[in-house]
Amino acid sequence: MSVEEIEITNSGIPLCEVTDVYKLFGKATVLNGVSMEIQPGERVALMGPSGSGKSTLLNCISGIERPDAGQIRIGQVDLATASATEMAALRRNEVSTVFQFFHLLPTLTAFENIELSLQLTGIKKADRQERVKELLEAVQLSSHKTAYPETLSGGERQRIAIARALAHRPRLLLADEPTGSLDTKAGNAILDLLEKLTEQFRISMLLVTHSNDATRICQRTIHMRDGKIG
Ligand code: ADP
Ligand code: MG
Repeated sequence: MSVEEIEITNSGIPLCEVTDVYKLFGKATVLNGVSMEIQPGERVALMGPSGSGKSTLLNCISGIERPDAGQIRIGQVDLATASATEMAALRRNEVSTVFQFFHLLPTLTAFENIELSLQLTGIKKADRQERVKELLEAVQLSSHKTAYPETLSGGERQRIAIARALAHRPRLLLADEPTGSLDTKAGNAILDLLEKLTEQFRISMLLVTHSNDATRICQRTIHMRDGKIG
């Protein structure tokens, strides 16, 4: 852990702070004054009915969508005023997302899917490959490194997607129903893995879930309804 990280960890300042965020699609107000925060190293579950705005909130935090009003801060970066370069750096270094349907590239092997996310970072090839090897071990899929996604089970695909998401060592992981397409056993294994790896690398996580089971790995649960928290 670097000196800067220790200072951030001990400062009591949230890693991610969302303040009075509004997002409209046409006439529909999908986020209606959302405020929330995530502390360094904290895992927060986000629950709520389908269509309540959970994915839109995640997309705003990851910078895929821009809020119409309100503020989002991650670390030192205010998303509303960040330059394109700062946003790109944020996505490359600080924030990662895992999705319900994995989003792996079908023409790349498990190893290559993970490595791809490091190719833009300027990390040297030998270091990159060493890191991918470590990640495959961390998600217990070293023996599947040359496998293509279509030959893997849902749970295995999600483990590769998690390894890919953690490859650049983000500080915040956004997980959008990561167990939503898995059976209970595979889903529980994914939750255990998310808990272990976020703990090990001290990563904060915002976990969107429909399952009360998933809240067991989180310190706190927040609820969303009609674009509002609470
Ligand atoms: P959740 O993840 O909680 O199911 P979403 O954030 O995906 O909810 O969607 C919230 C609402 O916003 C839904 O009514 C959805 O149809 C709408 N919505 C989401 N994304 C878009 C978009 N890009 N364009 C128009 N409407 C959208
Ligand atoms: Mg959603």
